[in-house]
Amino acid sequence: MTEKEPIPQASNFIRAIVEKDLENGVYKTRKWAGTPGDAAHHAVGKPDHEKIRTRFPPEPNGYLHIGHAKSIFLNFGLARDYNGVCHMRFDDTNPEKESQEYVDSITEMVQWLGFGWNKGGENSLYYASDYFDFMYHAAESLIEHGNSYVDSQTADEMRINRGTLTEAGKDSPYRNRTIAENLTLFREMRDGKHADGSMVLRAKIDMKSPNINMRDPAIYRIKRAHHHNTGDKWCIYPMYTFAHPVEDALEQITHSICTLEFEDQRPFYDWLLERLAEAGLLAHPLPKQYEFARLNLTYVVLSKRKLIQLVEDKHVSGWDDPRLPTLAGARRRGYVAEGFKLFTDRIGVSKADSWIEYTILEDCMREILNDTASRKIAVLDPIKLIIDNYPANQVEDCFAPNHPQKPELGKRVVPLSRELWIEREDFEENPPKGFFRLMPDGMVRLRYGYVVKCIGFEKDTNGKVTTVHCEYLPDTKSGTPGSDAIKVKGNIHWVSAMHAYECEVRLYDRLFKDPHPGSGDKDFLDDINPNSVTTITAQLEPSLKDAKPEDHFQFERHGYFVADRKDCVAGKPVFNRTVTLRDAWQK
Ligand code: ATP
Ligand code: MG
Repeated sequence: MTEKEPIPQASNFIRAIVEKDLENGVYKTRKWAGTPGDAAHHAVGKPDHEKIRTRFPPEPNGYLHIGHAKSIFLNFGLARDYNGVCHMRFDDTNPEKESQEYVDSITEMVQWLGFGWNKGGENSLYYASDYFDFMYHAAESLIEHGNSYVDSQTADEMRINRGTLTEAGKDSPYRNRTIAENLTLFREMRDGKHADGSMVLRAKIDMKSPNINMRDPAIYRIKRAHHHNTGDKWCIYPMYTFAHPVEDALEQITHSICTLEFEDQRPFYDWLLERLAEAGLLAHPLPKQYEFARLNLTYVVLSKRKLIQLVEDKHVSGWDDPRLPTLAGARRRGYVAEGFKLFTDRIGVSKADSWIEYTILEDCMREILNDTASRKIAVLDPIKLIIDNYPANQVEDCFAPNHPQKPELGKRVVPLSRELWIEREDFEENPPKGFFRLMPDGMVRLRYGYVVKCIGFEKDTNGKVTTVHCEYLPDTKSGTPGSDAIKVKGNIHWVSAMHAYECEVRLYDRLFKDPHPGSGDKDFLDDINPNSVTTITAQLEPSLKDAKPEDHFQFERHGYFVADRKDCVAGKPVFNRTVTLRDAWQK
């Protein structure tokens, strides 16, 4: 590569492979016809000006989770940084659990993370099910070249004859069917002449291979199922291990990046593509598969199967429940796309499985939100504070900075009046040593306002404090010359009771109480944290009434909050706690 562009991000082993391939001109002869297709289709295409092609290939059988974000930033990030294209591909070859709802949420989330699939006039949004015709054709070609056969063993017989890690497999009694017989049977499978599960098409490789995946893997099965894209056209469907390499090749993918559990599938990936290329069906150079370590994150589960269980069994309110590690849930919780970018940069890409601490993700969100969220005042557990010597009908303006590190963002008015809300924990009748906030006869500054002195308090019949009485010192207002005349150690936040916006705030905690839910012999459901959400009625500064869905704020001293994107009625927003200011879980 001559005009090498600066690569902005930390390098990783996959980037190193891409750079080497580009340097060695591995893809120089590659052509691209503008749409996916076989060798003949691409042969008349243009030399592919884009240098690499990657893909993000989710199966639309669930919502994307935080693990997918790693794959999205990796694949789309490579394409962006090496002047390539990343295909958004729905791997929808399994009819059973797929639906349009999932397709829609996946496209929404990839775009939310900042990526798209329209580049240079090319729309690279693809559906693997569009390749069913080619896949069928490719399967017949394998039969014609003696590379596959129809097996009529039962599932049990097949399992037994597959052998084990230490024992070689045994050839199926149907392995030597003639090409003509196999073609006839495979066509009958397609035409619905055989029952579901009565036979499969298998690649003919080596039942004694030390790699079990090479012991004649099944590549097509009979399954009478309605498909969300192709309807009832097919009653046979390709297996994932067959479909995926073919999809990559038709799309001229250069680097097919997947998680480590597919490492043992790589020999079959290469075997299959080479057979189809020999038969003239696929264009060279063929795609290559590379594996990286999947993201494992403490305190969450990143498996669609488990997430589906949490949703279907109603442990959470839905796919976008703010406690779920789905991207839809994280977004509603108030996590931001920039935070995920920072996170994926920080954890890197490696070839060794490991666990990432959930706090790393939270720290990334804090870092971004600290920079971008405007500051607001919120009283989450309110008690009254009455300034007895303040005129009952008087209201005056106090000025609070919108962002302490960004004076250019200015200040906003917060009204002060005789009756305020303060935090219950900011008053102590019998203060412990070192308590600097409000106590009988003590003095404290009302942040952005006056110094007040406590002159009494009231309790309800249960002994809970309901009201604190104070007197204010008129010359001590923040920002006036007298503000320094009296030094006090404590500084508490407040909102004016007659101006406050009273509303619902949801305080979220972790959904699981164990860092590795379901570890050992446990059921992961037994590790659910029973107190993962607390709904409170809070008193907020009046300007928060104008918050729009997905506006982010720092509630001073409390953490980062977001206006819920679903339950916000205009003029009546409710708020979700995204993350506390500091990690409350670290001991
Ligand atoms: P799950 O195991 O949760 O069902 P999956 O791998 O079956 O996930 P797909 O829809 O097939 O889900 O995944 C799309 C892409 O996202 C794949 O390329 C896969 O490798 C990647 N991916 C899935 N989970 C993770 C993860 N935890 N970390 C990194 N990448 C992941
Ligand atoms: Mg999968």
